[in-house]
Amino acid sequence: MLDVIVVGAGSSGAAASAFLAEAGLRVLCIERRPLDEAGACWVNGVPRAAFARAGVALPGHDESDGPPAVFHVVAPSGRAVVPVHDVVDIDMRRLVARLQARAVAAGARIMDRTTVRALAGTTVTTDAGPFTARYLVDASGLTGARLLGQPRVSPLDLCAAAQQVHAVRDLPAARTYFEAHGVKPGEVLGLVGVAGGYSVLNVRLHANQETIGILTGSIPALGHPSGKAILDDFVATHSWVGERRFGGSGPIPLRRSHDRLVAGNVALLGDAGCQVFPAHGSGVGAGLVAARMLADTLAAGRPLQDYELAWQREHGGLFAFFDVFRRWNQRASADTIGRMMHLGLVDELALRAGIDQVLPPVTSRTIAAKLRPLWREPSLAAELGVIAVRSAAVRALYARYPRQPALVPHWARLVDRLLG
Ligand SMILES: Cc1cc2nc3c(=O)[nH]c(=O)nc-3n(C[C@H](O)[C@H](O)[C@H](O)COP(=O)(O)OP(=O)(O)OC[C@H]3O[C@@H](n4cnc5c(N)ncnc54)[C@H](O)[C@@H]3O)c2cc1C
Repeated sequence: MLDVIVVGAGSSGAAASAFLAEAGLRVLCIERRPLDEAGACWVNGVPRAAFARAGVALPGHDESDGPPAVFHVVAPSGRAVVPVHDVVDIDMRRLVARLQARAVAAGARIMDRTTVRALAGTTVTTDAGPFTARYLVDASGLTGARLLGQPRVSPLDLCAAAQQVHAVRDLPAARTYFEAHGVKPGEVLGLVGVAGGYSVLNVRLHANQETIGILTGSIPALGHPSGKAILDDFVATHSWVGERRFGGSGPIPLRRSHDRLVAGNVALLGDAGCQVFPAHGSGVGAGLVAARMLADTLAAGRPLQDYELAWQREHGGLFAFFDVFRRWNQRASADTIGRMMHLGLVDELALRAGIDQVLPPVTSRTIAAKLRPLWREPSLAAELGVIAVRSAAVRALYARYPRQPALVPHWARLVDRLLG
C-alpha cells in the first residue's frame, strides 16, 4: 500500500512528493495536466528564506536572473525605493521541473494526465482507476480536487493576476520609459493603485535588456479590470514592447489560510489550503515551507494534525495579520495609498517587510515617526488605529489555534469578527 498520494504536481505538490519520498515514504503524485505544464508557468517572486526553510537549493542562473532587484514602488501621489530585500524572480517552469525531478529521483512516482475526481475514505477515484494510500495530500490548487470540500473562496478575496515575459522591440524607447520613472535596467518599477487600492503593474527591463517582465494584479469583484486586461492594455499602449515569450494568468486566493487544513488522513497544501501571503498574493514560498512542515510531520510518525497546528500557529497569524491590512487596502482609493506613502506611513522598512513576508520592525522610534504625521490626518489615523489593533489581536488569536478540532469553529468565529 502507498503511504501518501499527493494530488497536483505544481510547486507545492512536487515539493511535498520530493520531501516525503526522501523521508522513505512510498509516494504517488497524480497530476491532471502533462507534467511540463503542471503548476505555475510564469515568473514569480519568491523570498530566498523560503528556499532555506524548505530545504530547497537556491535557484541557479537557468531558473532566476540574479539577486533581488531594487524595487521602486510608485503610487499616484507618493513613491518609495526598497534597495535591499530577499525576493528573487523565478522562472516557475524550471523550478517546478526541478522539484518534480527531485521527487522522482527520491523514488516518488508521478502520474500525469490523470485527474483525481473524488475521495472515499483513503481511496481516490481517478481517470486511471482507484488508488489507496494511508494519507492524502490535496495540492491541486485553488480550483482543483477540493478533497476536504473546503469552502469556495469569495470573489472579494480573489486577485486576478497575470505575468508575461516579452521581447523588447525598441530598446532606446524602453530605456526612455524606465528613465522617466527613475528606474535603471534590472530594477523593478512597481506602479500601485493602477486599478483600485489592491492593484499593481510591475514592469522590469531585465539586465540583458532583451526582455521585460510584466506582472499585474487586481480585484475584479470590486469593479476593476482584471490583471490580464491591465497587462494587455500596457502592451497595446507601449509600442516598444515586443512579442510575448511566455507567461500566464489566473486567480490567487488572498483570504487567510483555510481554518481546517486537515481532516482525518487528508491534508490541504499550497493554494488548495489558501496558504498564500495576502499582501501580494504570493503562494510559492509558503507552499514550499508548508510542504516541508507536512513532510517532516509524517516522516516523524506524528499525527497529520500536528502539521495543521504548526502551520496555523507559526504562519497563519502572520498571514492573517497582513490580511487585515489587505482587506482595508483593497477598498481604499489609490489616492489614500499614495497619501500614506507621502506621509511616510508606508516607508522602505514597511515595504521591505511586506515584500519579504515578515512582520515590520516595530520600535518606539518607528511608532513615533508614524504617529507624528497622523496628527494632521485624524480620520486616516482612526482607520489605521483600528487596523493596528485588529491585526495584533488576530495574530495573538492564531498563536492559540486550538489543539482540539472541536474548538476550531468557535476560534474561527472570533477570527471572523476581528477581520470584520
Ligand atoms: C499571474 C500570477 C502571478 C503570480 N505571482 C506570484 C509571485 O510573484 N510570487 C508568488 O509566490 N506567487 C505568485 N503567484 C501565486 C503562485 O503562482 C501560486 O501560489 C502557486 O503556483 C501555487 O502552487 P500550488 O502548487 O499550490 O498550486 P498550483 O500551481 O495551482 O498547482 C496545482 C496543480 O494541481 C493540478 N490539479 C488540479 N486539479 C487536479 C485534479 N483534480 N487532479 C490532479 N491534478 C490536479 C493542476 O493541474 C496543477 O498542476 C502568482 C499567481 C499568478 C496567477
